[in-house]
Amino acid sequence: MQRVWRLGNTDGVPADPVVVVGAGPVGLTAALLLARRGLPVLVVEKHLEPYPLPRAVHLDDEVFRVLQAAGVGDEVQARSRPFAGLRLLDGSHRVLAEFRRRPEVGINGWPQGSFVHQPDLEEVLAAAAAATPGITVARGVEVTGLSQDDDGVTVLMRDDGADRSVRAAAVLGCDGAGSTVRDLIGSTMRDLGPADRWLVLDVRSPAPLPVWPGAHQVCDSRRPATFMPVTGDRYRWESRMAPGETVQDVTTPDRLAALLAPVDPDGVEIVRAVEYTFRAQVADRWRAGRVLLAGDAAHLSPPFVGQGMGLGLRDVHQLTWKLAAVLAGESGDDLLDSYQAEREPHARALIGVAQLLGRLMTRGGRAGDVLRRGVLAVARRIPAAARLATDSRTPPLAAGPEVQRRGRAGRRLAGSLVPQPDVVVDGRRCRFDDVLDRVLDGATGAELALVRPGELTLRVAGRPPVQVQDDGGALTSWLTGASASAAQIRPDRIVRAAR
Ligand SMILES: Cc1cc2nc3c(=O)[nH]c(=O)nc-3n(C[C@H](O)[C@H](O)[C@H](O)COP(=O)(O)OP(=O)(O)OC[C@H]3O[C@@H](n4cnc5c(N)ncnc54)[C@H](O)[C@@H]3O)c2cc1C
Repeated sequence: MQRVWRLGNTDGVPADPVVVVGAGPVGLTAALLLARRGLPVLVVEKHLEPYPLPRAVHLDDEVFRVLQAAGVGDEVQARSRPFAGLRLLDGSHRVLAEFRRRPEVGINGWPQGSFVHQPDLEEVLAAAAAATPGITVARGVEVTGLSQDDDGVTVLMRDDGADRSVRAAAVLGCDGAGSTVRDLIGSTMRDLGPADRWLVLDVRSPAPLPVWPGAHQVCDSRRPATFMPVTGDRYRWESRMAPGETVQDVTTPDRLAALLAPVDPDGVEIVRAVEYTFRAQVADRWRAGRVLLAGDAAHLSPPFVGQGMGLGLRDVHQLTWKLAAVLAGESGDDLLDSYQAEREPHARALIGVAQLLGRLMTRGGRAGDVLRRGVLAVARRIPAAARLATDSRTPPLAAGPEVQRRGRAGRRLAGSLVPQPDVVVDGRRCRFDDVLDRVLDGATGAELALVRPGELTLRVAGRPPVQVQDDGGALTSWLTGASASAAQIRPDRIVRAAR
């Protein structure tokens, strides 16, 4: 259980903390990452209890590295299940195409895709935050105002009906789709496409249901739907609602039987059936001085590639090291300008993929259904198309001061993640990211250089190099495959430059 911080009780609230607004997955991850960099954090959440119902169900292996960096990767993995891939079905649930993901550990050191029950993830994050001495979580407190001066930010809050204020070194608005912080800095959401109304149906079944352990997309323009086994006895169905339809209209016994077929609706417990409006939006301004937006406060994605929450976790992985460097006086505030410059194009790219997939799978009427059957029958036999659908790698970050795409090696590697194999350091086998964190120890970059195949050094300026045995050869072939002999790695595992 988290501490509840009340008016007049400032025990444990550090001086000039970073105030994180919102204790959703993005805010709690940000708090853990900031605390690991030695910054005091106050998380302010307007609700007394975490949101209990499922939302996100998918995490990819890149995003698992963020959870690993926050210190909770193994705990989240213990409560998730590897995802078998994507099956595209026609309206009669015949398989049109199947794109498999390997359940074993891949290039990022985690299974390529995993299903997770969002409340389980939030429980792990909240427990880790409660156990971290530098973090105070204040529940039942709503942020209502902000004012900035040269020394920091004054945050106004409503706490049990009374107003109070806290001085903050910086503020992260991780306060979700309806973000107050976004309004307070005068930022506005911009639509990237039309909104779509979907039924979201969460189901529990005492007996395991006979479904393939991956995501299913029903490519039927009249009744597009998705379904997947989440974790344990939990299952999710989503179905697009026609204009004018209500939840009652789409959950009649007949409609439920058709949606869940061949599963018998009477044999399962419907946990909830609600309407959600999926939006594709990006905020026009992610920063005003020392106030920054992350997660759903900065962008919203349709669900087709399961990246909404993942985008937010990627945001805070980079924002936290940049903010720490600025607050420590090691970098100027202009480092924070690179945050939106890098993250917005990446978020737009993934939102664009989600929109495209949604359109390809669900639009075009009956003619579209026929076309899709033909195209997909061919696509699944073309290795390049299948690779595209099964590869979890996301686009490289945009070039800028922190992503230097110069030279042949730089053009190939900068902006992308370094792989995470297991390596041997000082006779001990460990994950590469854990070694990187140890070597970085607060620094903003380390050079990974090839000494000979299978042997590399990791070096931070002014400190002794660390020998890295790459006995599986993954780091060696990653460098040599890009004609590189060395890469500069940022704390968020992104390659800054390569030569
Ligand atoms: C049906 C559905 C399916 C989804 N599927 C996926 C998926 O498969 N994969 C994926 O990655 N994403 C998915 N998403 C998206 C994912 O759930 C969100 O992207 C994620 O929850 C966003 O996290 P967040 O921390 O940014 O915001 P939230 O989880 O919304 O947290 C924001 C918090 O801020 C608090 N808050 C708001 N205003 C204030 C204030 N003024 N003061 C104090 N506190 C405040 C709120 O109470 C809330 O707790 C899905 C979403 C839905 C609805």
